[in-house]
Amino acid sequence: MNSSAPPPSLTASVDGEVLSRMVRTDQLVAIRRSVLAAIPINVVLSFTATLVALNSGRAFEGLSWLLLSLVVNGLRSYVSRWAFAPSPGTTPEAGVAASPTARPVASHLRLASAMAALSGCVWALIPLLCHGYSSPQAVFYLTVVCGICAGSVTYGIAYAPVPISFITPALLSVVGCLVYAGGFDNLALAAMVLLYLAALARGALQSDKTFRDGSRLKNEATALAGQLRQVHALSLDATQQLAFRASHDSLTGLLNREGFTEAATLHIAAPDGRQHGLLLLDLDGFKAVNDAFGHKVGDRVLQDVAGWLRREIVDMQAILGRWGGDEFAVLYTLKPERQTPTAIAQALIRSISFATAHYGGHLGVSIGIVVTDDADIADMISFADEALYEAKRTGRNRFQVFDSALNQRLATRRDVERDLLHAIEARAIGVWYQPIMASDAREVHSLEALMRWNHPRHGHISPEEVIFAAANTGLAEPLLRHLVDEVCRGMRQLEAAGSSLAGVPIAINVSPREMAQLAVDDIVLGLLKSRGIAPRRLQIEITEEVALDTHATRSRLSALSAAGVAIVVDDFGVGYSSLASLRSEYVRQVKIDRSFILGLSSSPGNVVLVDAIVQLGRSLNIQVVAEGVETQDELDALRALGCKLVQGYHLARPAPLPDVIAWDAARLPLAVTAAAPVSAA
Ligand code: C2E
Ligand code: CA
Ligand code: CA
Repeated sequence: MNSSAPPPSLTASVDGEVLSRMVRTDQLVAIRRSVLAAIPINVVLSFTATLVALNSGRAFEGLSWLLLSLVVNGLRSYVSRWAFAPSPGTTPEAGVAASPTARPVASHLRLASAMAALSGCVWALIPLLCHGYSSPQAVFYLTVVCGICAGSVTYGIAYAPVPISFITPALLSVVGCLVYAGGFDNLALAAMVLLYLAALARGALQSDKTFRDGSRLKNEATALAGQLRQVHALSLDATQQLAFRASHDSLTGLLNREGFTEAATLHIAAPDGRQHGLLLLDLDGFKAVNDAFGHKVGDRVLQDVAGWLRREIVDMQAILGRWGGDEFAVLYTLKPERQTPTAIAQALIRSISFATAHYGGHLGVSIGIVVTDDADIADMISFADEALYEAKRTGRNRFQVFDSALNQRLATRRDVERDLLHAIEARAIGVWYQPIMASDAREVHSLEALMRWNHPRHGHISPEEVIFAAANTGLAEPLLRHLVDEVCRGMRQLEAAGSSLAGVPIAINVSPREMAQLAVDDIVLGLLKSRGIAPRRLQIEITEEVALDTHATRSRLSALSAAGVAIVVDDFGVGYSSLASLRSEYVRQVKIDRSFILGLSSSPGNVVLVDAIVQLGRSLNIQVVAEGVETQDELDALRALGCKLVQGYHLARPAPLPDVIAWDAARLPLAVTAAAPVSAA
């Protein structure tokens, strides 16, 4: 049923035209019944009248009249049945109203009136049997005629024209005969009969009106009840639709997150010791397809994937849902005859990369799996999610089963998320610094600020994990503010210590996600202003990714750059849009990713790449830093390639601020020629 069609309003009752047709139909049905009931009485009276005629020696007239009366009654009865006969299986009302061949109700009623008039005319011929009411039998006939007229009105309450058509000829003939006979008594009787006729007619009209009123009320009530039923059905339908929409994804038609959770909870609720497998799937490269081909294609990919998943698991009685964005979830009960979750995952990976090949081979799927008899769907989801995260982290288009190592990591992650706010507030999250040096001198070009958190129970938590936990717990902004604040304090401490590094710019790392979701420009520039620190003393390192292309990110980077904050593209060469990022007017520096530097001297391919990046930087006036320099060989190779800036354990490890101040006091012992790293990270 179309949900946009408005439900019928209860206040708008039945249309007047329709209602009066229903009333007429009721009249017709009632009249039909009363005529059929009255005919036997009519026939009995006809026989009696004929007997009296025979007895008074008027055999010919009596029998002729009886014949006529029987013919007319038979005709009337036939017409009543024929004309009003309902089709089998329906009520007489419905038959009369709905039979497509039935004549309009009004003409049925007219016919009934005509038949009544005909029957009345037969009774108007009674004077033939009694000499115009002058024979001794006149009283009998008069009584019979008056009686049958009264009966006709009593029976025909539904539709006045029928009794009136009947009584008028019958009684007028009485009046005519009496007037014709003359004499005071006769004339007085004629007047009485006229009065009687009028009274009967009036009674008929009144009961007709009463009947119509009653019928109207009944029909209105019936229609109202029908409308109520319809509205009830519609509202039931709407409720069901709402429930469906609340639990299903409109794009793919699969269960949505809520619907899946509910269905899965029911599915695993019975604690029967059976094992359930949950697979959490996340498309690889979906964002790139979406960005490259547009949202319409993106939507179609999701619909296609939903279709393939449906087909793949059709025999498993599995619950399938769209978990969000490009994530899907499958839950099923393990049975010996069914495939194992890992076999299913392998099949899904194969089928999806095969089926999406026409999108340029960009798409794949990573799958996190958990197998458990735990009856808590929330736990299962977070286990599978952890496994999925691991699958993504260790390369794409693969699956990972949740195991004890991941269980340990999940526990750590939960503790980290739980303790993060407190750590920020207690300034337990600190910043260490690693210098970026000129490759041919002892000079420090800038410092990179690296987050450090020593968790009381889990020890060193990597910056990536902290950033991830902050994003999960809505603490990204407080954390960023805290780190910028720490760096500002570091600058002030360097100044206070009279360090020659006091004027050196310090770079902070900002993840693409922070850049996309936080007003990093406002936050950073606002903090610098309130601390009285010039924006040119700060640099921002951002990993280049597709996210760099979004409008919000670009405008934030432009604003920061315009204010004097230098923008550095981190991990250059491994992102999606390396060369494009070089065109941006605000990029001041690129950091060649560590993977190109590792074993540089013995890798001709990397030499060519690094050489090309150095040349590009030179011609585009962008500084090029090589990061992750761990050996003298790498450093020598970089020098030979003309790479002017370097960073890495070979030169100096990240160190806390007091160490940095101490380096300076020792007149920069981190000579680029020194073989040993200065400070352990
Ligand atoms: P990154 O920006 O590429 O930072 C360099 C990472 O490489 C640092 O790890 C540093 O300790 C390490 N490193 C430096 N020299 C060498 C070397 O010669 N060899 C090797 N193998 N590693 C070296 P760290 O501090 O664990 O940081 C890891 C990543 O975490 C950083 O990578 C950065 O992307 C992110 N990160 C660090 N601090 C922050 C922060 O405050 N905010 C944000 N958003 N991300 C941060
Ligand atoms: Ca960095
Ligand atoms: Ca880097």
